[in-house]
Amino acid sequence: MQYHIWTVGCQMNVADSKKLASGLDKLGWSEVGEPEGADLVVLNTCSIRDHAEQRAVSKLGALKKLRGKGSDFKIAVMGCMVGPRTDDLQKRFPYVDAFAQPQNFDPIMEAIGYDEMGGEFWPSMFVRAESPTAYVPIVHGCDKFCTYCIVPYRRGRERSRAVDEIYEEVAHLAATGVREVTLLGQTVEAYGHDLDEQPDLGDLLRELHDIDGIARFRFLTSYPKDMTERIIDAVAELPKVCEYFNIPVQSGDNGVLERMARGYTIELYREKVDLIRSKMPDAAITTDLIVGFCGETDQEFQHSYELLEELQFDKVHVAAYSDRPGTIAHRKLEDDIPHETKMARLHRIEQLEAGISARINSGYLAREVEVLVEGTKPRPDGAEQLYGRNRQNKLVHFAGAAAPGDLVTVCIENTSPWSLVGAAVGAAEAAATR
Ligand code: SF4
Repeated sequence: MQYHIWTVGCQMNVADSKKLASGLDKLGWSEVGEPEGADLVVLNTCSIRDHAEQRAVSKLGALKKLRGKGSDFKIAVMGCMVGPRTDDLQKRFPYVDAFAQPQNFDPIMEAIGYDEMGGEFWPSMFVRAESPTAYVPIVHGCDKFCTYCIVPYRRGRERSRAVDEIYEEVAHLAATGVREVTLLGQTVEAYGHDLDEQPDLGDLLRELHDIDGIARFRFLTSYPKDMTERIIDAVAELPKVCEYFNIPVQSGDNGVLERMARGYTIELYREKVDLIRSKMPDAAITTDLIVGFCGETDQEFQHSYELLEELQFDKVHVAAYSDRPGTIAHRKLEDDIPHETKMARLHRIEQLEAGISARINSGYLAREVEVLVEGTKPRPDGAEQLYGRNRQNKLVHFAGAAAPGDLVTVCIENTSPWSLVGAAVGAAEAAATR
């Protein structure tokens, strides 16, 4: 039997899809790259923006057509489009066989005839390793209820996995060739508060640090208020933990942050960035920003613009606000910023950030950086070129001889706002001989 999984959205969705794939593999199924010929097609969806949801809806339309041509296969929808109640979805898409909330794979398994998986089947199923890098969820769900966000309603409250279970999974990944592990949580520093001994993310990183074969750890996504000095110290002290932080700020204006119910002020956010930079001057910090949130005035937007100028992030993921049914903002605030204004603000941020990223990246010129090789990609002239990421998570293309999983020292010869280009210097630390 064959399955096909289509995934959009965040890294947590990617990890969920891999977990489902690992379970199906264990049952003797095999994965195919296209829906054609599959016995099961799963769409792992995202609801964070209307655009992401529309992509899933159009995929569903294509699958309906494929069925109409006589193909016989089951269709499952999982991820953040699926809430606790599925009546509406069932009405809109009556041809779908299963709707599954994030990480609840049971409805999918039932649709393909596995009614009783046993209580240990999914908890002991680890994400499968396909490359030298892997995502490992450590805390599921979110308790923060930011007014624009659907995640807490779809993924539930924060639930941390036990340290032993995570250790076992990371050791298993190391044994199958993974060299870099990114620990995932919607708010990753919330890890542990619900466990008996209340370990924090720093304690977990210290536990995992001695696992042979893993050369690097990262973690995503940070929540400014939960990020403590203790955690920052662990990152600074542990050699395998990369100096890379993604800390969504969402707005540079305290009034907007309050309407978003983000739970911190710009002053607190700035303190965290300063603390990181004082302990790790070489750290890369990226952020997420929403423009055009309900009632955002020109002046409030200007505060976001000025904050980016001031804090000089390595990268900004900027999005125009998109009203999502089911959120607090949808019920209580008005999505009153015209589309053109949102887009104009978005472009201003993109332009500003391109300049900042170009300046920061040009600082790598003639420097030697450590790159974990992920694979090869064709250059514009068609020749294959190695690529990977440095410790600051910057994409590096380079010439040299190395294999995926090798750690290579690369001298940077060219930079752009989006990537670095260079050549390998010295021998690679081969994955197999480390
Ligand atoms: S912290 Fe806010 S934005 Fe992030 S997942 Fe939780 S509710 Fe959504």
